[in-house]
Amino acid sequence: MADSDQIRIARAREALEGLSVGDAFGELFIRVGSYRAASYIQYRQTPLAMGWMWTDDTNMALSIYQELRQHGAIDQDRLAQSFAAHFEPTRGYGAGAIRLLMNIRQGAPWRQSARTMFGGQGSYGNGGAMRIAPLGAYFADDLTQCADQARLATEVTHAHPEGVAGGVAVALAAAVATRLRGEPTPDRRTFLDLILPHVPESIVREKIRHARELALDASMQLAASVLGNGGQISAQDTVGYCVWCAGEQLANYEEALWLTASAGGDVDTNCAIVGGIVAAHIGMDGIPQSSRDAREPLPNWAL
Ligand SMILES: [Mg+2]
Repeated sequence: MADSDQIRIARAREALEGLSVGDAFGELFIRVGSYRAASYIQYRQTPLAMGWMWTDDTNMALSIYQELRQHGAIDQDRLAQSFAAHFEPTRGYGAGAIRLLMNIRQGAPWRQSARTMFGGQGSYGNGGAMRIAPLGAYFADDLTQCADQARLATEVTHAHPEGVAGGVAVALAAAVATRLRGEPTPDRRTFLDLILPHVPESIVREKIRHARELALDASMQLAASVLGNGGQISAQDTVGYCVWCAGEQLANYEEALWLTASAGGDVDTNCAIVGGIVAAHIGMDGIPQSSRDAREPLPNWAL
């Protein structure tokens, strides 16, 4: 039997909190530049004690969360309108996303606009993956529905199969993390084995398989060199590393974020993805209160 809407949305809210704190934490290191970021991360220091600003990852996740809270499922037309209506140029959106959302705001149909991006192949950016963890937590009691709803939520902006696979894979990771609540935390291989069968055939899936195969004592440097770190902003270059990090530190939110940030690359998005997955497993109490207080408040429109 499916869980009640109330139970589902409470889980999604925890993943949203983990995603947004991770996003804002990661953004700190983008802001100071990679050279200074490396020293902060080495000494486990954050560039700011307060005023951590969330970015596009959180803003788009808020639209998904609102859609689930109000309707319990994704309606693509409504979600496209919400993404466009809440678009804020100062939140670090990618150039493609800015063009797409401005087009939708001006009345262009999202399906056509998303498909014509990047010479007609559609986007395979990591923007579908970065915002999806709350949806995974919401549909954790039904992995088939989870994958289906994740595809719907991703297609609105990412028409390329790799972009979609990225969104589906991260939703499944958050769903599996939710299902493992209250159980002994599995090792990374066991965690990824539960996700892999449901991820569509793709480079993203291949990368997750590599993330599974890496030795259990593999270093972050090795993982990032094999899997990527999001530096290319693509789903293929992002999701494998993120699920590796989540699988390494599924029970420890802080350690998971430090590990994730240490590879550089698309740090805010990587930390949003990992923060969302880990919070789906450990819940609100697993996110340090000091980090939650440091993050800029979430806006009322979605909550
Ligand atoms: Mg961002």
